Amino acid sequence: VHAVHQVHPLNWRDENVPFQKFKSKVLPFGSGRSYGDSCLNDGGVLLATENLNRMISFNPATGVIRCEAGVTLAEILDFALPHGFFIPITLGTKLVTVGGAIANDVHGKNHHRAGTFGCHVLRFEILRSDGFRDVCSPLQNRDLYAATIGGLGLTGLITWAEIQLRKVSGPKVDVEMIRFEDLDEYFGLVEESDRDYEHTSAWADYLTDGNFGKGIFLRGNFNNSSQTETRSPRPKNVPFFFPNWCLNDVDMKLFNTMYLYRMASKSIRQTIHYDSFFFPLDVVGCWSRLYGKRGFFQYQFVIPTPAVREGMKEILNRTLKSSVRPYLTVLKTFASKKSPGLLSFPIEGLTVALDFPNQGAPTRALFDEFDRIVASHEGRVYPAKDARMSADSFSKFFPHWRELIPHIDPKFSSSFWRRVTGEMHA
Ligand SMILES: Cc1cc2nc3c(=O)[nH]c(=O)nc-3n(C[C@H](O)[C@H](O)[C@H](O)COP(=O)(O)OP(=O)(O)OC[C@H]3O[C@@H](n4cnc5c(N)ncnc54)[C@H](O)[C@@H]3O)c2cc1C
Repeated sequence: VHAVHQVHPLNWRDENVPFQKFKSKVLPFGSGRSYGDSCLNDGGVLLATENLNRMISFNPATGVIRCEAGVTLAEILDFALPHGFFIPITLGTKLVTVGGAIANDVHGKNHHRAGTFGCHVLRFEILRSDGFRDVCSPLQNRDLYAATIGGLGLTGLITWAEIQLRKVSGPKVDVEMIRFEDLDEYFGLVEESDRDYEHTSAWADYLTDGNFGKGIFLRGNFNNSSQTETRSPRPKNVPFFFPNWCLNDVDMKLFNTMYLYRMASKSIRQTIHYDSFFFPLDVVGCWSRLYGKRGFFQYQFVIPTPAVREGMKEILNRTLKSSVRPYLTVLKTFASKKSPGLLSFPIEGLTVALDFPNQGAPTRALFDEFDRIVASHEGRVYPAKDARMSADSFSKFFPHWRELIPHIDPKFSSSFWRRVTGEMHA
């Protein structure tokens, strides 16, 4: 995604942002870890929150932390873990900001227990372009609270937020990796694990034998023994968890064989540092370069439970007819816990994230087909990972999207929003 914008750095949470001076639309910018253009504002202004990086208050008895919106989840962990608290949602990277995590209402390996990030946001302050500031919570300014969670940065600038952290004994996680042979076995493991394990997800080998669903199921719980050591492992301790593949089918097969099937036994148990389990990609600097200069797309969708098997079969068949292949597949089952955001992505069902190298037109054509399949099963594609869905697809995935319009700050917009809604609502 190419975009040209002006960057306006913010330094203080109470500063007067000169909104009226900007001739074009503005958009808050966190760490830029969104995969597509939801964090971009081509031709407009990005309000960089990097310097809004201060902790404001912390209650060690309750684990409630208040911090500025540009604080990253990694910084919260560094601060809170020595006090025995962890971030509430275990998404695939800790390098995102609190503002970004709210605006996409991010989810993680513990969705079946904890829901989305928004479920743990007790309150936040929002600054609108007319200079008006207000605090939003589930009880105060409820509509703006719901619109801002998963609101793609369009409802105003979050200056600070208060988050409920989760109590833990230490940095270690007891992990079990279990080989599965097909989707039925995967769902059996989900059913068996969701009751006793806080964190579950899976890596699948999408196309081996033309059969979807072989892979490794990961499940884990925080280790309860008291520990004081909080250092991250060195990258050399991590290779088992990060993909190290290159850009051709031979290497991909090698990766699948070595990585997914190197387990001689059906399952392996380990106690490991949380970084290795939750954030394997964070230890690989510039990992996206593994896909070459043309980069890659991640296509993440969710299909509601009743239609999952049929939907996955159609996606697989469509892929087999195409010349492009995904290099990595991550599966996670979303439970029924409702997201608090108006446009939050998670709904009950199976979410699948497929990493495809960017091969231009054939890749995009395949995604258009996927969109049709996902929409026909009442599923949706994740805006945080998207750089190409059409306005038509967006309105099928989020038929209620117009409910966001009354809450959008007229000075705010993004490249994503203009693309999926048309200039009219930008
Ligand atoms: C390796 C990797 C793994 C990932 N794994 C997951 C995962 O498991 N689950 C998941 O849900 N996502 C995942 N993501 C996506 C990522 O969590 C989201 O895209 C997240 O929103 C990025 O946050 P950010 O701070 O980088 O925000 P940006 O990408 O900079 O911005 C994202 C959105 O937040 C808005 N925003 C940022 N700051 C503010 C603010 N102060 N006020 C109002 N709006 C604001 C922006 O306008 C934009 O709309 C992953 C991304 C990567 C790179």
